[in-house]
Amino acid sequence: MGSNKPNLRRATAHIQKWAHRLPDLAAGLVQELVLFIYPPTCAGCGQPLHSDQSEPLCPDCLRTLELISEPYCPVCGVPYSTEIPNPHLCGDCLGGIHYFDRARSTGCYRGSLREVLHRFKYGGRSSLARPLAQMLTAPGKHLSQLHKIDCIIPVPLHPRRLRQRGFNQASLLARRLGSALKIPVNYGSLKRYRWTEPQTGLSRRQRAANVKGAFSLKAAERVRGKGILLLDDVLTTGETVNQCVRVLKKDGGAKEVVVLTVARTVAM
Ligand SMILES: [Zn+2]
Ligand SMILES: [Zn+2]
Repeated sequence: MGSNKPNLRRATAHIQKWAHRLPDLAAGLVQELVLFIYPPTCAGCGQPLHSDQSEPLCPDCLRTLELISEPYCPVCGVPYSTEIPNPHLCGDCLGGIHYFDRARSTGCYRGSLREVLHRFKYGGRSSLARPLAQMLTAPGKHLSQLHKIDCIIPVPLHPRRLRQRGFNQASLLARRLGSALKIPVNYGSLKRYRWTEPQTGLSRRQRAANVKGAFSLKAAERVRGKGILLLDDVLTTGETVNQCVRVLKKDGGAKEVVVLTVARTVAM
């Protein structure tokens, strides 16, 4: 039964797309039918949502959503747990381990946000790109005020992973963010040619070795001298984005690269 769900979801999405071409009464009936077959569920826990609720999360999941706000490291955006008068650079940024110029994430990778991202990425819920991209709009706009951004580049997937998943979650987010901020998206320049094992459970050093040389550039002239916003769903140790930024700057001659992710892991 479970394997039929994505097909059903695709079919209902297709019906909804056509519904607006029908006369009002027929369109209303189609919408009712869609809600009957596939009632809206919470993007975090999967429980049915009240019909009058506008948020994609139920009240319980909204409570465990941890958005990141100041104080945080002005460069990498890691949140500080205590109120400090003058935000200072974190240890990683003082040590100069990042290649990017600035990084921001909307929330902590735990609680309901982690569940939503899992459903989005591994549960085939590509429709979650919309609420997730909406979360990225404000920090994306802020980054574009601090840096001149010529294009958005989503962190690419290896072609084999793309075939397995059916979509690149970062590309779906980039498309929506690009249209919200009116910034073009460059899908073709950054490529992931080398297969890498999932990063889960690896130390920072192992992660760095795992993704080293995984990315390369095609049509480098499209990034030369440009300000780039690199987009991904989650920032963990930052090794994946670090390798992307390294390639964009060293091989491609990108002027500045800022990083934006939906979530990031934060030490408890
Ligand atoms: Zn929920
Ligand atoms: Zn920092």
